[in-house]
Amino acid sequence: MPNKDTEQRRVDPLPVFRYHPDPLRTGAIARSDAVCECCGEARGYTYVPSIAGACDVAVACPWCIADGKLAADFGAQLVDDHPLLRDGIAADIVAEVTLRTPGYVCWQQDSWMTCCGDACEFHGDATQADLASLDAAGLAQLSADSGFPWDDLPDIIAEYSPGGNPAFYKFVCRRCRRARFNGDCD
Ligand SMILES: [Zn+2]
Ligand SMILES: [Zn+2]
Repeated sequence: MPNKDTEQRRVDPLPVFRYHPDPLRTGAIARSDAVCECCGEARGYTYVPSIAGACDVAVACPWCIADGKLAADFGAQLVDDHPLLRDGIAADIVAEVTLRTPGYVCWQQDSWMTCCGDACEFHGDATQADLASLDAAGLAQLSADSGFPWDDLPDIIAEYSPGGNPAFYKFVCRRCRRARFNGDCD
């Protein structure tokens, strides 16, 4: 008899999300045996951020996000479209990010970043090294993007740890590969 605790359950490879390349690492998707309320299957992974406010589904799998079933059947929008529309991002990209891409856990309203006319990739919580390496221009940009006062940022960054409060989020431009950061707090 195989030992159930150590038996590795076979699961399909995760769908590819162009704008959220490693959702397991960022914590947006986690291993779980829960049944997806959209497709009715337990496929080994579920979506982590709360979607209770976005639709009538509490548990959803990454495949129903990737193929748009969650958005089509339940009207779920997983990412706020306002920052993307404000930055003039093309409608097909806005639809891909907001309806077919895992969002992220944050304290306030999520704010997906853009660069070079495209939505950025989401890379999860910034590391302290990411933020400590910012030069004066980078700190000014972070202040503008996060709302934290520029002269408070060095102290905030010195005390920062990923997943804490305040939180900083890392995005990377798909075209110029520049890292962009924003942040929020409880
Ligand atoms: Zn599903
Ligand atoms: Zn760029």
